[in-house]
Amino acid sequence: VSEHDSQASAEENWDVAIVGAGAAGLMAAVEAANSGARTLLLEKNRKPGVKILMSGGTRCNITQSTDNRGIVAAFGPPGRFLHSALAAFGVSDTIELFHGEGVPTKVESTGKVFPVSDRASDVLAALVRRLDRSAATIALDEPVVEIDRHGDGFHVRTSRRDLHARKLLITTGGQSYPGCGTSGDGYRWVAELGHRVVTPRPALVPVRTTAAWVRGLGGITIADATVRVLEPVDQTQHPDEARRKNGLLAERRGSLLFAHFGLSGPVVLDVSRFVSEHAAPHSLTLECDFLPAFDTGTMLEAFRGQAAAAGKKQLISVIGEYLPRRLCEALLASAGFSPQMKVAELGQRGWNEVAAALKRQRIPIEGTLGFKKAEVTAGGVELGEINSSTMESKLVPNLFLAGEILDLDGPIGGYNFQAAWSTGALAGCSM
Ligand SMILES: Cc1cc2nc3c(=O)[nH]c(=O)nc-3n(C[C@H](O)[C@H](O)[C@H](O)COP(=O)(O)OP(=O)(O)OC[C@H]3O[C@@H](n4cnc5c(N)ncnc54)[C@H](O)[C@@H]3O)c2cc1C
Repeated sequence: VSEHDSQASAEENWDVAIVGAGAAGLMAAVEAANSGARTLLLEKNRKPGVKILMSGGTRCNITQSTDNRGIVAAFGPPGRFLHSALAAFGVSDTIELFHGEGVPTKVESTGKVFPVSDRASDVLAALVRRLDRSAATIALDEPVVEIDRHGDGFHVRTSRRDLHARKLLITTGGQSYPGCGTSGDGYRWVAELGHRVVTPRPALVPVRTTAAWVRGLGGITIADATVRVLEPVDQTQHPDEARRKNGLLAERRGSLLFAHFGLSGPVVLDVSRFVSEHAAPHSLTLECDFLPAFDTGTMLEAFRGQAAAAGKKQLISVIGEYLPRRLCEALLASAGFSPQMKVAELGQRGWNEVAAALKRQRIPIEGTLGFKKAEVTAGGVELGEINSSTMESKLVPNLFLAGEILDLDGPIGGYNFQAAWSTGALAGCSM
């Protein structure tokens, strides 16, 4: 009897141990148990799926109404990693799973899929019912503290016990919203096991600004705006010619929310990773187009038409037809105009300045709200070191990884959960 064997026999033995009962772990445990493996799912919190409960404003945006190719495309070039996972468990499988558990879904105008009940708790309850029907064992309030390679398997130390697992899946998520249990524990273990971890950065995170007028508009929502992240042109060393010309790092269109610290809403969250990964975030500017539906010429024509019809009209009442009044006042003030100014008094140059204030408003960026308020973590385990057909490590046999711990992060819209459901399911089937 080798030293390994005698040590292992004194411990509990499992075919499969899964660390982290979030979206990916809950999915994987059912698949692994259903394929006959004695499966233990270990969770740090007293409840599984805490992030699922708080997701989508407690409504849980389960996935996006698109096909698997649409999911792949939304992740950009790294999205290719998801092909096999989506083939194993794709968008339609996700929706069927929840329908089968008595959780009907609906699609909103943005393509986001939610439970009809608007309750994230229904989504989690469905996953927990599946888990209860499977033969998997779940251990709550039991954080894993240490993982070591042990023979062909793993020695896992938790807050309560030592155990041996023939196969190990790490689904500890990222390191955003650390209050949910996701404090980045998995990164250290995988690094110790020899994997490269691409530096984690906050993504889908609100952006801070020093502009007091922006902070003063907290609570105002603009349903349709375009935002661009710009870096200072003269300092730009980037070889890309187009980028060097205008310093444009990212551009998105969607809904925007003013907050007491700066800006949030889907469109800002979607560009936020370009801020958090920048070496000097405070040197960046957010350029906002508050009326992207109009090109400048058409917009000015409409404004001037009103001015011609009623020259005594005040500037604020013309622009106030398109945007919330408090925002108009702030934008006009930024261009040095009084909201009460009569439109007849505004010359060509004045109108051009108003147009720039509405369509090319530059807001200085201070940074982001960081991991504490980031919906996802960019960075994580290097994808090239994982076999995307099985989710098994190419470096450490019998080690599997799934979910947000991987170096994959998608935009707002249900993409991140879909990646977690799919990679979790594929890992579970492959173990
Ligand atoms: C506020 C908020 C809203 C969001 N809304 C949406 C949305 O609507 N749609 C969408 O697609 N995505 C959304 N996301 C992102 C989504 O929640 C994540 O991408 C997804 O949960 C990742 O799944 P995961 O299984 O990899 O990790 P998680 O779901 O984060 O699960 C990881 C689990 O591992 C556990 N764990 C960590 N360390 C240990 C340890 N040492 N021992 C044991 N257990 C451990 C954690 O407690 C946690 O339960 C949101 C995120 C946040 C923070």
